[in-house]
Amino acid sequence: MPRLRVCVIGAGAAGLSAARHLTSELDAFDVQVFEQSSCVGGTWVFTEDTGVDERGIPVHSSVYRNLRTNLPKEIMAFPDFPFPSEWSSFISHQQVLKYLKEYTSHFDLYKYIQFNSIISSVRPLIRKDSQKPLWEVVVTDAHTKESQVLLFDAVIVCSGHFAVPRLPVIPGQESFPGLVMHSHDYRHPEVFQGKHLVIFGGGPSGRDICLDVANCAEKVYISHKSRFCSTLPENVEQHRPLISIHTDGTVLFEDGQERKVDSILLCTGYVISFPFLHDDCSILVRNNRVTHLYKHIFNTKYPTLSFIGLCSKNFCTFPRFSMQAQYIASVLSGRKSLPSEGQMNADEEQDFQERLSLGMPEHHAHIIGTRGDYDGMIAQLAGVDRLSPAYHSLFDYVTEERFPYHLMHYKKDNFRVNSDGTWSLVKNLADYDNCNRGEMRNAESHMDSLQNGLEPLHKRLDHQKTKH
Ligand SMILES: Cc1cc2nc3c(=O)[nH]c(=O)nc-3n(C[C@H](O)[C@H](O)[C@H](O)COP(=O)(O)OP(=O)(O)OC[C@H]3O[C@@H](n4cnc5c(N)ncnc54)[C@H](O)[C@@H]3O)c2cc1C
Repeated sequence: MPRLRVCVIGAGAAGLSAARHLTSELDAFDVQVFEQSSCVGGTWVFTEDTGVDERGIPVHSSVYRNLRTNLPKEIMAFPDFPFPSEWSSFISHQQVLKYLKEYTSHFDLYKYIQFNSIISSVRPLIRKDSQKPLWEVVVTDAHTKESQVLLFDAVIVCSGHFAVPRLPVIPGQESFPGLVMHSHDYRHPEVFQGKHLVIFGGGPSGRDICLDVANCAEKVYISHKSRFCSTLPENVEQHRPLISIHTDGTVLFEDGQERKVDSILLCTGYVISFPFLHDDCSILVRNNRVTHLYKHIFNTKYPTLSFIGLCSKNFCTFPRFSMQAQYIASVLSGRKSLPSEGQMNADEEQDFQERLSLGMPEHHAHIIGTRGDYDGMIAQLAGVDRLSPAYHSLFDYVTEERFPYHLMHYKKDNFRVNSDGTWSLVKNLADYDNCNRGEMRNAESHMDSLQNGLEPLHKRLDHQKTKH
């Protein structure tokens, strides 16, 4: 049997996971990963740049200087490659990137990745002798802008979903005299030094950046739909969503209150975008819902076109990528088969209708979280081991019990996941909501000194090289 030529788009965590699982079956797959930047890591590659980079390509990363993960490393890790045990649970973006580079080296993936290569077009070519199309992929050199056309049997899209800002339309915004920035371009709090700032959006970025800028801004108004039950810095005020902006810099909130500000930071999320997919691919994106997808992974018309990471929001991303990558490998290799196109479309529609009946909006079509044991189902369909129960239970603990009530301190928690799937809190510097700023700084610098010890990266055990 000739090997299946597989094109993987992107060398972030999702693309690396695809490469790791496909290259463990080299007799079945001939894998090429195309990455537009010059290194692996995707959004975890911090850059000072905003807008476009020196090659004229839109900056991909949305990471800011002081970012630490919002999940503990114990449940962020790929199941077959733990983070170093000596690192504390909530790690810096530099540590995540270091981990992803280690993963790439450990599974010997660099030789399959072509850097500075932008996928500019993907189109199915219908074959007379087969129901499966051949994929025509146009690869453009990021420096010379020269393109070449390549042919593949399968394409896996791993291009990320947090690079194209979602910009709300707020009445009066165009005449606002101050700075308006989206969180995609946020890098340092100092840019808001001494400012009166409104943050619009209270999702993970809004919450996290709010605490970061509060160290520099004079006053921070965080405007969002819900209300945090946690202690916040003294200079932070919560408000209902922003409804209009006035030329004198006054902003009006849904709660009827007005405040005068000189800066607006939009933490309003991102739009899903696949600019390289030709209309013939039978993929539609509307209101952040991608249609003709089975289990949020396989194109129902042409299942040799698949996606990793669409439904990773609100869960541990790398473990879910790993499950999805293994499912794709099992289908492409023929070990597992998919239902008919009609059955897959019906399954997709049922999934969507269930969401609507639960009151979820259309743009939450790919938000799954830990409900419904999606990962267990994917593992079963793929015929691979399920994730340890610790992934779900620790995720729920952190997101439901810790950060909603201890926003300022939950990242001081340290966890250990045990081999029987249970987990324990091993160190907690968090429960000091009433302590004064000096005590907090001492505790923080203690944790910083622990976390900054990036040395030495843990030695990987040979038995972790499963299937390799
Ligand atoms: C600010 C922020 C904080 C986050 N914090 C956490 C966290 O604490 N924990 C967590 O688990 N997750 C977090 N995430 C989610 C994070 O996105 C995932 O963890 C994960 O890194 C996504 O991986 P990915 O491979 O899907 O996408 P990306 O990391 O975005 O990688 C996609 C890659 O595809 C490349 N690419 C795109 N288009 C093309 C093209 N046309 N041709 C070639 N290459 C292309 C890009 O250059 C990039 O390298 C955070 C995200 C953001 C934005």
